[in-house]
Amino acid sequence: MATPQQLQLLAPLSGVLIPLDQVPDQVFSSRVIGDGLCIDPTSATLCAPLAGVVSTVQASGHAVSITDDNGVQVLMHIGLDTVNLAGQGFSRRVEEGQRVEAGQALIEFDADYIALHARSLMTLMLVVSGEPFTWLAAPTGLVETGQPLLSLANPEVTSEASVGAEGERLFSPLLRLPNPNGLHARPAAVLAQAAKAFSARIYLHRQQAEANAKSLVAIMALQTAWGDSVQVSALGEDADVAVNTLARLLAEGCGEAVTAPTTAATVESVEPETLTVLRGVCASPGSALGQVMQISEPRLEVNTFGVGPHIERETLANALIEADMALQHLRDIAGSDAQAEIFKAHQELLADPGLLDQAQALIVEGKSAAFAWRAATESTAVLFQQLGTSLLAERAADLADVGSRVLKLILGVSEQALALPAGTILIADQLTPSQTAGLDTDKVLGFATVGGGATSHVAILARAWGLPAICGMPAQMLALANGAQVLLDADKGELQLNPGAVVISQWQARHERQRLRHQHEHAQAALAAHTRDGHHVEVTANVASLSETEQAMTLGAAGVGLLRSEFLYLDRNHAPTRDEQVSTYNAIARAVGPAHNLVVRTLDVGGDKPLAYVPMDSETNPFLGLRGIRLCLARPDLLREQFRAILGSVGLTRLHIMLPMVTQLAELRQARQILEEQARALNLGQLPKLGIMIEVPAAALMADRFAPHVDFFSIGTNDLTQYTLAMDRDHPRLASQADSFHPSVLRLIAMTVEAAHAHGKWVGVCGAMASERLAVPLLLGLGVDELSVSVPQIPAIKAAVREVNLLDCKAIAEQVLGLESAEQVREALHLYHEAAADTLPVLEN
Ligand code: PEP
Ligand code: MG
Repeated sequence: MATPQQLQLLAPLSGVLIPLDQVPDQVFSSRVIGDGLCIDPTSATLCAPLAGVVSTVQASGHAVSITDDNGVQVLMHIGLDTVNLAGQGFSRRVEEGQRVEAGQALIEFDADYIALHARSLMTLMLVVSGEPFTWLAAPTGLVETGQPLLSLANPEVTSEASVGAEGERLFSPLLRLPNPNGLHARPAAVLAQAAKAFSARIYLHRQQAEANAKSLVAIMALQTAWGDSVQVSALGEDADVAVNTLARLLAEGCGEAVTAPTTAATVESVEPETLTVLRGVCASPGSALGQVMQISEPRLEVNTFGVGPHIERETLANALIEADMALQHLRDIAGSDAQAEIFKAHQELLADPGLLDQAQALIVEGKSAAFAWRAATESTAVLFQQLGTSLLAERAADLADVGSRVLKLILGVSEQALALPAGTILIADQLTPSQTAGLDTDKVLGFATVGGGATSHVAILARAWGLPAICGMPAQMLALANGAQVLLDADKGELQLNPGAVVISQWQARHERQRLRHQHEHAQAALAAHTRDGHHVEVTANVASLSETEQAMTLGAAGVGLLRSEFLYLDRNHAPTRDEQVSTYNAIARAVGPAHNLVVRTLDVGGDKPLAYVPMDSETNPFLGLRGIRLCLARPDLLREQFRAILGSVGLTRLHIMLPMVTQLAELRQARQILEEQARALNLGQLPKLGIMIEVPAAALMADRFAPHVDFFSIGTNDLTQYTLAMDRDHPRLASQADSFHPSVLRLIAMTVEAAHAHGKWVGVCGAMASERLAVPLLLGLGVDELSVSVPQIPAIKAAVREVNLLDCKAIAEQVLGLESAEQVREALHLYHEAAADTLPVLEN
């Protein structure tokens, strides 16, 4: 308990305590404003640390101060440089002059928005009236809102009025304030500090109001703005010098750069510290702090010539059998379906006749089994790489992996199990499935590789394990010393080397916030997705396998909105039989069940998605070539077989069939005819629902003509964006511009919905846009009926639907359709998100 002479200050937020010296802002770290503490928050409501009167609350809502009955003044400042946000992201809960209790909510803020748009979320609590304090808790680590943190001795009441001041009051000329955001905490602190150097009583005047210029809080309470006319006055011995000095300081901006007002966008690029950061692309989301462990594959020595074709052939055959057995074992013990599938594909490669023929031919020429096998796998891998598609390049990596497995068996080199320390971040040129097979995932926190991409096996495995991963890193990463500490931030595609204490604390706070939000969304995942005004939205899943379907259903999906069927047999070099296909679709249909929709998309092969068992001529512009329904109609047997197999699931689920890349009505008619023939052959009385993807602008523009002939539309925003903006969806340099939030894409979505609804048909969105929280109010407002999202996003998107009002969504959708660019649309949606957040209960834990 505090004695009557003591005052306890409570933690205004939950979060991680950061020593004031480590705050990357000199005004705070040098204690010019006052001594106190800093918290990197994990909660989103700033509460009063003491009882008293709100002496200032900035119009922009990012700072507030409280003065208690004994004159103790405590300033709280949320984030660094947050004054530049001009109030966005903050909601004031109190007014100036209002009396508050300790623990009462003062300001609510949108931590995500601020983290994204300001330099930092670090929040300061400073005793600006200068009383010394002692700590009631450890000055580092996690704290909870309301926890007593500081104990202050009661202040000696000193009143300036009691200090006699003689002489004439002197005034400076009127000055125009050059500070872009007026005298907020930082310049106010500089002015107050300078004023304290004089013994005179000094005032700052704005219109009729005046403030004690030695009090930071009083200066802030004047609520000055850029261009305001202000004046300094002083009374006392050194009044003359004080007025001149302070007037000059004000004219120069009180230590602030005084050019045109800065915007949030420019502030975002300010780095708090000089960091060494390596950048790649996100292959699996998340972040982790750990230590480097390099993995590399040594080059094996082989003899060129063998001891005779007969023996070498047998050596190769034995190694292939052993490798097959080892892969079968790895399949059997695989921790995930994704991993098992990879080893199955490797077994297929072992049996590939093309590879074996090449190796046998070299053995006949007198080469050793090892030489022949290596030459065959390496030359085929090079061929794959030269074909230029990312998927085939990754199959080349598989081939290298299988190649080395067999080579080691021929040479009698045993696989070394990796001994990993806890908290490892694996660094490699390329991580092969074999290397990752035996990994102790309890010890590994994430991966970073030079090779690979978002569709690589490392990416697939990392996502299946829920570990963050970055691919496409610069090769200099391979020179990092084992044991060096790194922060792997896959969400940003960054690897930070030797992060400092501040970066680590910020990361810990962000990580904790994400964990809490994630926990909350998962706890509510089973609840229906109704907007606050009761409008129901179907949140379904995009899947590519049975295991993903099962996972989606446990995460609360209302069915499957897109089964990408081309992924079911991706690694096969021969077509699946009809029975195989039937049993795959049946298993998925059962997992979805009779109460939900299963939308099976027919093969979308071509473009960036070659399929090994569908040989295709190479094309100059594969994205504009024989892709999707065009290819299937050119090879109607493929489509016939697939329809027949899908129809085997009638009755098991609410079955829907969807055609990709439809551009012409004739394509839809032809496909329907083939479907009807197959249904007749099976004596089916009723056809499943038949719909099309809207992913070619022609289809969106002609949606009113398509609508009478379909049961539903699903908008593929990935392709619709690439074809509307004429930007390759995988182009690394255009990635930030190829944005589905572009108003042109939104107008096409609006047209599609209008046409569908006019004919009583429903519309889904299954492109990646639907998985973005920011898009939820927009898509709902445009009238979309279903959002089909990537599996891990299901709980978050359902939560986002529950947070909005349909009426508001319509208004924001209407507004953004008239904007000029994707950036403007995103900005408007951020603003909307903030306003909506104000009316919601804030998630604390
Ligand atoms: C799309 O284009 O948005 C879509 C969902 O299809 P895919 O990404 O499989 O091409
Ligand atoms: Mg598509």
